[in-house]
Amino acid sequence: MKTNLLNFDLPGLTAHFAQMGEKPFRAKQVMRWMHQAGAADFDEMTDLAKSLRQKLNEQAVVGIPQLMTSQESSDGTRKWLLDVGTGNGVETVFIPEAERGTLCISSQVGCALECTFCSTGRQGFNRNLTAAEIIGQLWWANKAMGVTPKNERVISNVVMMGMGEPMANFDNVVTALSIMLDDHGYGLSRRRVTVSTSGMVPQMDRLRDAMPVALAVSLHASNDAVRDEIVPLNKKYPLKELMAACQRYLAKAPRDFITFEYVMLDGINDKAQHARELIELVKDVPCKFNLIPFNPFPNSGYRRSTQENIRVFRDILQQAGFVVTVRKTRGDDIDAACGQLAGQVQDKTRRQQKWQQIIVEQ
Ligand code: SAH
Ligand code: SF4
Repeated sequence: MKTNLLNFDLPGLTAHFAQMGEKPFRAKQVMRWMHQAGAADFDEMTDLAKSLRQKLNEQAVVGIPQLMTSQESSDGTRKWLLDVGTGNGVETVFIPEAERGTLCISSQVGCALECTFCSTGRQGFNRNLTAAEIIGQLWWANKAMGVTPKNERVISNVVMMGMGEPMANFDNVVTALSIMLDDHGYGLSRRRVTVSTSGMVPQMDRLRDAMPVALAVSLHASNDAVRDEIVPLNKKYPLKELMAACQRYLAKAPRDFITFEYVMLDGINDKAQHARELIELVKDVPCKFNLIPFNPFPNSGYRRSTQENIRVFRDILQQAGFVVTVRKTRGDDIDAACGQLAGQVQDKTRRQQKWQQIIVEQ
């Protein structure tokens, strides 16, 4: 079996090269070739000694996931489905805006956490993505959009808000984040890379210590009764613990606030009284709110809140002094909106096993 060099961040690749008897600067060169020049063939890496190229050809690969399909929406949103083997596919979405370009990437094939309003969660869980499969999404998006080191940067922001719960695939996600932030990799600033979590408290502490990037927390409810229903993980890490973990995270976060995501579900969590309860809940956590109008999918059983309810909810939060954004739905015509990413997931786990996976991960 050849070693896939895309699975290494710079410290990992340097250690691997040391084992091969190669100097640390070679690792930097190869990182730049793979991630900045988009090279997948060692023979393209012309400033490496021929003997090293030969050794790499024998022992290693730059293993990029295969592209299954790509789609472009009328609003410029683009979506790629990457083959991650045995009939499974994961989705990556690029959202262009005037001031920035955001890539939304996936961390798992499916998700074990079963939030009731999420299409990925409904599909079940297959497996964690490798670091190569996570960073491979950024690699592909750059390639597809014709980015070279000489071009302007097209992807300015990365959000881990695609399929899966990033914190449940902790080590591979941290390796991929390390490559995103590295000057020899994608050179993104910590402030422009966001991990979104449904609230895995122990891993929030680990991320703070290992790789503090911007943090978004999928709150979605103002009390435990509602959150227990729609985000089942809440039964394990209820709101009080989650709020405390957010405060601890902020001690090292690159931004001085947490972004709370809040999906607007008609009649479930969108009443004025919920907004007022929310203000009380987050009073000790510097934060911004991102309200996400629910994106429907077949047989979801939920409806999107009315525009009027969303407006009232937003106004209550704003009047209490919070910064609130209401997420615009992008890529509607290609099912690329939040929570609609379905990919191709063959569920491998029964409910019992899913929860074991979550508990073992800690
Ligand atoms: N697992 C992580 C990240 C992926 S989901 C998490 O839950 O945070 C990214 C965001 O989309 C989360 O806030 C999630 O709750 C939200 N989401 C999921 N399904 C949705 C839907 N159908 N409509 C709107 N937002 C949804
Ligand atoms: Fe998983 Fe996030 Fe979907 Fe919940 S919302 S099922 S954690 S992907």
